[in-house]
Parts: sequence; structure tokens; C-alpha cells
Amino acid sequence: MKIKVTQAEGNQRRKKPADESNLGFGDIVTDHMYKMDWEAGKGWSNFRIEPYGPIPIDPAAMVLHYGQEVFEGLKAYGGEDGGIYLFRPEENFKRLNRSARRLCMPEVEVDLAMEGMKKLILLDRDWVPRSEGTSLYIRPTMIATEPHLGVRPAKSYLFYIIIGPVGAYYKEGLNPVKIYVEDFFVRAAIGGTGEAKTSGNYAASLLAAEEAKKKGFTQVLWLDAAERKYVEEVGTMNMFFLIEDEVTTAPLNGSILPGITRDSVIRIVKEWGMKMSERSLAIDEVIAAAKNGTLKEAFGTGTAAVISPVGQITYKGEDHIVAGGDMGELSRRLYDEIVAIQYRRKPDPYGWVERIV
Ligand SMILES: *Cc1c(COP(=O)(O)O)cnc(C)c1O
Repeated sequence: MKIKVTQAEGNQRRKKPADESNLGFGDIVTDHMYKMDWEAGKGWSNFRIEPYGPIPIDPAAMVLHYGQEVFEGLKAYGGEDGGIYLFRPEENFKRLNRSARRLCMPEVEVDLAMEGMKKLILLDRDWVPRSEGTSLYIRPTMIATEPHLGVRPAKSYLFYIIIGPVGAYYKEGLNPVKIYVEDFFVRAAIGGTGEAKTSGNYAASLLAAEEAKKKGFTQVLWLDAAERKYVEEVGTMNMFFLIEDEVTTAPLNGSILPGITRDSVIRIVKEWGMKMSERSLAIDEVIAAAKNGTLKEAFGTGTAAVISPVGQITYKGEDHIVAGGDMGELSRRLYDEIVAIQYRRKPDPYGWVERIV
């Protein structure tokens, strides 16, 4: 594949953050972006890296009306040894393709998308932050560009990748978050698009999240759409609970986003010889365990925050403090293990980390 590179000129170069200790999440992008086009009957073409900038879009572009959009989120890590590493990147592109199939969008060739991504990171490698807890966030995105008013799958698409340095996802950092168990609104129903990483799912989640924020919560914990009985996931994270000596997370039944961090945590917990269950967990079971002291820990998992400990769960007006409101031992251990592997501070027994330079 030939990728045409157009370097950013002096005035197209963006300002690098002066202070890596205060990066926040999602506001800074680098000098360049990767793009490729898809057309029915022709497939992918026009592989290119260009200066970062606005993309022209027809007001009738189908993504704006019918929501054909899928995305991914992964990170490049500046290793202790000066290398740049990716964590299970092929999983992200496989998931992108599963999301694309659900939305009747074309699949990308994984090797092709990965090559474009790596080339982009290498070109903007000076942007990879090096301080503790920072990384380069990578956002592959696909949108329907065909101008047409009328519902059907579009016949042209743009795939692009943008990247930018990030710090902690939540302003709380590793401090425990407070979550609100949402028993009216739902995120996704079985048979819907909950297992696809697609924009509409997030638009649909905003109102509940905003109402929870007004009440002082960081995130909502979603329950299943049919009965509002079983725990699903949180905002942009999968959820885990440690009850007595059993680690539990919801099964991938179609309404849950199959997180790569979720998968890694399951693998590590099993490797450590702990009891790991993917099973339906009723919110009533969680609350009963919180009341009788057997709920030892609760935490969310996702690329952005890695492990986010939960210090309080509020359900039907009652607050339940988890792990004394602190980060529990298992959450801490998992966080340390995954981060050490990602930054290559520790050998990687799972073969998850790939060095790109
Ligand atoms: C992206 C995402 C996750 C976490 O997935 P990772 O692959 O671990 O980053 C969990 N839930 C939702 C809804 C998400 O969008």
C-alpha cells in the first residue's frame, strides 16, 4: 500500500503542550491525521497522511442524518526504554470491523489500517508524552459521507485516525468515583447496537449522565433494558465486582461493549488463580452484598482510565460506600500490573504489547 504523506507547513503545525502534568483528556491533537476513502464497487483507496484540519462535509452526508459512524479508542505508550508501544491494537481494529458490520458499513483491512496508524504515530512521535500516567490517545473513526436524504446504507465513507497526548481520563485520577444506578433510562437493549462502538449509543446516554452529574455523581451504572434488574456497564467502562472471593463481570450478551481492558482483566484475574465469573449479576445482589459487607470492591475498566475504582454506589436513594471509599487492593494490583505491561516496566507474559519504534 502506498501512503501519500503531506507534511504540515510551519503555520499548520500545532502548539505542543508546555506542561505534561496537566494534559487532561481529549482536547489536544497533533499535527497530522491519517485518511482513506471507500466507495461502493471500488473499495478503499487514496491512503494519505495530511496536516490535521477540518474535513469538508456535504450537509446531506448520511452520517449527519442516519448516524452511520463507528470509532475506536486505543493508546500508544512511551516506554521506560524510550520505545513507543501499542497494547493489543489488532483487537481494536477487529472490534471496529464488528461495529462496522452492525451498522452496514464497510470493513477495513486490519493490516492496512494498522500501517496507516503506525506511520501517523511515527510522523508525530515527538508528541508522545513521557511523564507518568500520560500516553498518546488514538481515535480511529469511520463516517458515511455520501450525500443522500433517504434511509439506506451509504455508498461512500471516510476512515480517519486522529491522535493526541492525554493524561488522566477522570479528574479524580485513581481516586474512587461515585456512581448512580440508573433505573429509568437505559443505554442499550439486546438486539440493538450496544455492543458496537457507535456514536448514537453515547448521544443516547448523555441525558442520564448529565442528571447524575448534577447530583454529584461521576457516572451512571446501567441496568439491563428489559427488567432494570441486572448490572450492565458504566459510561465508557465495563464493570467488575469483587463479592467475597468471586470477581464478577456481566457476560457479553449483546448489549455490552466488549472491552479490551475487560478481556485483559479477566485473563489476569484467572492467571492469578482467583475465581472469575462472567455472569448476570442482579443489582439487588450487589446492594445486599454492600449491606452485609461482602462487596469488597467495585471498579470500571477501559482504555482511557485503565481501572477506575468505585467508592460509592447509590441506588434508589440509598448510598452504599464500597471499600471504605478507597481504592481496593485488587483494583490497585490490576492497575499496577496492566500499566507496568503497557509501559514495558515489566515483562509481558501475554504477548499483548507491540513495539512500533
Ligand atoms: C470503549 C468502551 C468500553 C471499554 O472498552 P476498552 O476496549 O476496554 O477501552 C466499555 N464500555 C463502553 C460503552 C465503551 O464505549
